[in-house]
Amino acid sequence: MDRPFTATSSGLSRCRITVRGRVQGVGFRPTLYRALTERGCAGSIRNTPEGVVLELEAPRSIVREVVDGFGDIIPARAHIDELTLQELEPCGEEGFRIVPSAAEGRSLLPIPPDLAACEECLVELRDTADRRCGYPFNTCTACGPRFSIARGVPFDRQTNAMGSFPLCEQCRREYSEPQYRRFHAQTLSCPSCGPVLSFRDTGGREPDSPLELTRRMLREGAILAVKGVGGFHLACDATRQEAVEELRRRKRRPAKPFALMAADLAACRHLAHVSEAEAALLTSPQAPIVLLRRRASSPACEAVAPGLAHVGVMLPYTPLHSMLFDGDDMPPALVMTSCNRSEEPISLTAEHVLGELADIVDGVLTHDRPIVNRCDDSVVACFDGQPLPMRRSRGYVPEPVILDADGPPLLATGAMLKNVFALTSGRRVFLSQHIGDVSDADNAEHFARAFDDFARLLRLEPEAVVCDLHPDYPTTDFARRYSREQDLPLMQVQHHHAHIVSCLAENGRDGPVIGVSWDGTGYGEDGAVWGGEFLIAERHRFERRHHLAYVPMPGGEQAVRHPTRMALAHLARALGPEEARGRMGPPMGEEMCAAALRLMERAGFSPPTSSAGRLFDALAALLGIRTEATYEGQPACELEAACEAEPDRSYPFGYEGDDILLTETWQAICRDVDEGEPNSRIAARFHRTMADVMLETCRRLRSETGMETVALSGGVMQNRTLLGMAVPALREDGFEVLLQRLVPPNDGGICLGQAAWACARLNS
Ligand code: ZN
Ligand code: ZN
Ligand code: FE
Repeated sequence: MDRPFTATSSGLSRCRITVRGRVQGVGFRPTLYRALTERGCAGSIRNTPEGVVLELEAPRSIVREVVDGFGDIIPARAHIDELTLQELEPCGEEGFRIVPSAAEGRSLLPIPPDLAACEECLVELRDTADRRCGYPFNTCTACGPRFSIARGVPFDRQTNAMGSFPLCEQCRREYSEPQYRRFHAQTLSCPSCGPVLSFRDTGGREPDSPLELTRRMLREGAILAVKGVGGFHLACDATRQEAVEELRRRKRRPAKPFALMAADLAACRHLAHVSEAEAALLTSPQAPIVLLRRRASSPACEAVAPGLAHVGVMLPYTPLHSMLFDGDDMPPALVMTSCNRSEEPISLTAEHVLGELADIVDGVLTHDRPIVNRCDDSVVACFDGQPLPMRRSRGYVPEPVILDADGPPLLATGAMLKNVFALTSGRRVFLSQHIGDVSDADNAEHFARAFDDFARLLRLEPEAVVCDLHPDYPTTDFARRYSREQDLPLMQVQHHHAHIVSCLAENGRDGPVIGVSWDGTGYGEDGAVWGGEFLIAERHRFERRHHLAYVPMPGGEQAVRHPTRMALAHLARALGPEEARGRMGPPMGEEMCAAALRLMERAGFSPPTSSAGRLFDALAALLGIRTEATYEGQPACELEAACEAEPDRSYPFGYEGDDILLTETWQAICRDVDEGEPNSRIAARFHRTMADVMLETCRRLRSETGMETVALSGGVMQNRTLLGMAVPALREDGFEVLLQRLVPPNDGGICLGQAAWACARLNS
């Protein structure tokens, strides 16, 4: 920035700096207040719909110094996306002030996301001279709970859950005097005025030190509920196989991986391989669960993520979490999984835990600061040194994704599994927290309540509703009902198109592009179950060009639970029913196998599917890696984990019209099986084959259309082994590859595509 600052006769300069980015709820205004008053500047700072606006008046050299060194005076957790500078006439203003929030307009980001404890607060936690030493609720302007405790707007003490903890005199001084780092901190408290920790169990035990008892019980192998930021966790010692297995038994969750919380970064590195990018994610203010490649020597037991090569790890993100690991005899990692029965919403109160989940927990570490908005932990992986989100929730919500064009306020209801919905305002798309599988009644209720709260907090009233094309999704139902009640137009978008538009929108592209949309299932325009699609896609329209050849999905959705049925269907198509029965009869049971073959004859019970996700499932079942799934995608995940590093070759495949035929692929796989090739080799060759399918089909489409950009989305794009083969191959061949980096490629990111599609339709 080397604009001249003209000094007036008084020697003063004045300028307006407008900053966009992560500038709210990170202590931006107080930090600048301190920096600028120290330099003797006059002016003001305020939040506006355009971002933070700073007006500054001072001698020319000082204004220059501030502008040139702006990056050094902002808080560490702020992030500037855009900065504009405007020179003004000096007006002789005196003093510097923060213009309060009450005067702010309706559309600024009213609620910041929850932020992990900052370094300074953690230092105070262990500083015996500090009055907040050992205080588990320590926060400041740069860190602490936000969205999860917000009841209203603007985000200040009166409208968040800290409102019921009146400030003590000392805290009040820190809040109101700019020399303190908690100046204007809306969540500050201390041991004499803040929330209080307690331990509860059904036996009515009331220990002197709840934390000490918690640590002791965890060491002894107990399963405890621990109150977190957006809900309770179930915690146990991750190094004790019997404790983890007991948790699986009580929670009725036989295999779905558990997340871990590691004591610190060093402990993470013992559990798993941690790249620089992964370390940056782990230590970021969002503090998500990061999927890391497990070390063979990991101290965590096998039962935390059975059959998988990766393990989800996060760092303590509140002082309370961090204190769980204090003491030499604590394990380096705890299981920290959502406190619920499988697939139900995460518990919010100790009463709920003790009432409904008493058979799961041995006790509850809780406190009296209420959780207002339920918010699960976020999950992120790294691919190619960049984040690849799997679940975007705590720490990210409600920060918007910015579109490149304005649109009317919309509600996009998402899909069914991993549900997330979105509300838009102008260019901004506010994605909700993770809701989960809305076919579950409790989650459907969670959806309705979260929608009410989200719309109220963001002060958004949709003028149109967009949902999936699927006639039976609960979210389609909600959209129909809501649009009828509110008299709003309803729009429905095809699932796989919405996946690609989600990718286009976050990359700021309009298309047309080649869209590779691979996932488990989605409702197709022909009523079939799509999921292995090659589209020519723009935001507002698409054309389906190629897809995996249809096979019957025996028993419809039941084939998700029973991947052997998908194996049977694929083998029957490639090798004939007799051969299929010969291979799948023994693992399925001859009777079941014959019944499934009969079921396949009846189109009403076995919808045709082009699903890529179910194809991966089918191979996992044929190889005996996973014949019954206990969670969606388990067979495919375990197949990926089974792959050897470098496949020596791939299998053949072919085309018939628009259909991609895998007949030869299955024949070759069966030959490999008969020759006794190890599963690891077959799995790897198969992944390479699917990468070849992607490359070859994109080449065909490029020669037909001239398009050189490929957008990848859908749940299958969570498979980093597949991406690791396909993406470099596409790039080497001259394609530009667009991936999802801000929202998940799975159905957790589909509402962004729905919203962007509807905007494009309404604007076109
Ligand atoms: Zn802090
Ligand atoms: Zn206090
Ligand atoms: Fe999908």
